[in-house]
Amino acid sequence: MTTEHTPGAPLPGLSGLLGQLGGAPEHRYTCSRARCTAEARWAIVWRNPKIHAADRRKTWLACEAHRDELRDFLAARDFPLEVRSVSELEEQNEQ
Ligand SMILES: [Zn+2]
Repeated sequence: MTTEHTPGAPLPGLSGLLGQLGGAPEHRYTCSRARCTAEARWAIVWRNPKIHAADRRKTWLACEAHRDELRDFLAARDFPLEVRSVSELEEQNEQ
C-alpha cells in the first residue's frame, strides 16, 4: 500500500468521500492543509504585512506531516510567523 498521491489531485478513498459529504471532523483540531483530515498538533501564527494591520494574526493549524510545508509556504513569502504547539495556544486563550 502506498500513501503517495499526486499533489493537487483529489485523495481517493474514504477521507475524500467524507470531505465531500461534510463529515464532522473527528479531532478537536484538524489540519488546515486542503484535504488533510489529520489531527493538528501545531499552530502557525502569521500575518501578511501587506494586508493585515500590525496587530492582526492568522492561525493555521497543522498536523505533524504538514507543519513544515505550511510554514515554508508562508516563510517563502516573507510573512512574519511563529510556530507554536496547539496546547501552548490553548493556555494563552485561557488567560
Ligand atoms: Zn495535515
